[in-house]
Amino acid sequence: VCAGTPCLSAGADVVLETLRQGIAEGGLDAEIESVATGCMGPCSRGPLVKVRSRGKEIVYERVTSESARQILFSVVKGRRPPTVSPLPPDLPFLARQERVVLANSGSVNPERIEEYVAAGGYEALSHALHEMTPDDVCREVSLSGLRGRGGAGYPTGVKWSLARKAPGERKYVVANGDEGDPGAYMDRSIMESDPHRVLEGMALAGYAIGAEQGFIYVRGEYHLAGRRLEGAIRDAERKGLLGSRVLGSNFNFRIDIRTGAGAFVCGEETSLMASIMGKRGQPWHRPPYPAQKGLWGNPTLINNVETFAAVPAVVGRGAEWFAAIGTPKSRGTKVYALCGQVEIAGLIEVPMGTTLREVVYEIGGGIPSGKRFKAAQSGGPSGGCIPASYLDTPLDYESMERIGTIMGSGGLIIMDETSCMPDVASFFLDFCRDESCGKCAPCRVGTVEMHRLLRRITSGTATMDDLVKLEELCELVGTTSLCGLGMTAPNPVLSTLRYFRDEYVDHIRQRR
Ligand code: SF4
Repeated sequence: VCAGTPCLSAGADVVLETLRQGIAEGGLDAEIESVATGCMGPCSRGPLVKVRSRGKEIVYERVTSESARQILFSVVKGRRPPTVSPLPPDLPFLARQERVVLANSGSVNPERIEEYVAAGGYEALSHALHEMTPDDVCREVSLSGLRGRGGAGYPTGVKWSLARKAPGERKYVVANGDEGDPGAYMDRSIMESDPHRVLEGMALAGYAIGAEQGFIYVRGEYHLAGRRLEGAIRDAERKGLLGSRVLGSNFNFRIDIRTGAGAFVCGEETSLMASIMGKRGQPWHRPPYPAQKGLWGNPTLINNVETFAAVPAVVGRGAEWFAAIGTPKSRGTKVYALCGQVEIAGLIEVPMGTTLREVVYEIGGGIPSGKRFKAAQSGGPSGGCIPASYLDTPLDYESMERIGTIMGSGGLIIMDETSCMPDVASFFLDFCRDESCGKCAPCRVGTVEMHRLLRRITSGTATMDDLVKLEELCELVGTTSLCGLGMTAPNPVLSTLRYFRDEYVDHIRQRR
């Protein structure tokens, strides 16, 4: 039974309990095991139940207590349940994915370290500690072409090498799990579904750069992820996979969790470090960069959760294998949270360079009710919209930038023909205005004023002068703000203006 947050909110706990009761009452404990797994993917179809029996795998959607009893009966009898239909095994949502980071999600029990180990977990760490030097690990990560999955796409190997070479007695590894973009939940799902993969990636980073301490900064609202990570750390320490003399080597590595308090800006690396050190979560000027001077003035390597989760596969299966997936400049796979107006919403992992059309129409099953696709918002409030004319754009770092948006961390919100794009821009700007930490004036004052102008436009009380003023402010806020939040806050406005300017003008001329 999928026990990821979306399925739990749809009633997966009741389904699991029904199955457990049925198994106990039927005296079937020796034959049937019920397992709570991580995310299986098609979240909008939850609660999901996967049956593995007689070498076959069947996934059932929208399972209720009643259908859970039918499923149990069908397993015992070896027959299909009468009124519940399974998802077709060749459903593109399942069949078109290439799962590297999500390889174990929905298959293993995230609360049992034995299942991660049985699936090959911690083999990459063992291989690195016993057969590779720290430089070898940095080189492998560089050769793989892995780039930061948090949004900026900075080459991970370069970052690791800088942190390795930075002078300092004490170094730190930090996993950024403070995912806050509206519509994005890739990192939450990875932490909930396969927490050991993140820990293993961090331990490999610690070995590569010479750090003995790691922190995972988990968004405050992610209770389940925090709980599963805590349990995973305890289990890994108990098994000698974290702590002193990891796997019998001379490498010591400890990981602690730090929980955020709900500030979006703490996803920005300097604010995140301030928060870990117990200070107010506000950004500071760079340089120096964290790799030179981070936590308590020491070299600090910060990557997001998905980046660390890709590392065990890179080290375990080799850089060449990883680099063969994706495009020449954007290697590997990317996890997306596909949501909004799409038939099947959920978590997907596809090779870099997969087109938006494939994601929306093949994997996502298209737009509900026969409506037309209007745009996709990528990269959350820092990103931009992709109109229908760019449906065949490959989803990779360069192509996204070319059309005026960013890959971001992987949130993809699909909008149909009924969406009003100035309203969409207003929603994201409202979010940035709320989340501005207030440290610098361009963002603190600019986002308020930009939002006010946008509201005037959407309510039909603006003039064309307001639109000119809005564009000037976008330029000003984007170029003079201190951190990424303010620098990118105008993006949703700029990209909707670029592709849907007529909608702004229609609002002003009261044609809408
Ligand atoms: Fe704070 Fe915004 Fe300035 Fe960033 S840009 S430091 S969030 S006020």
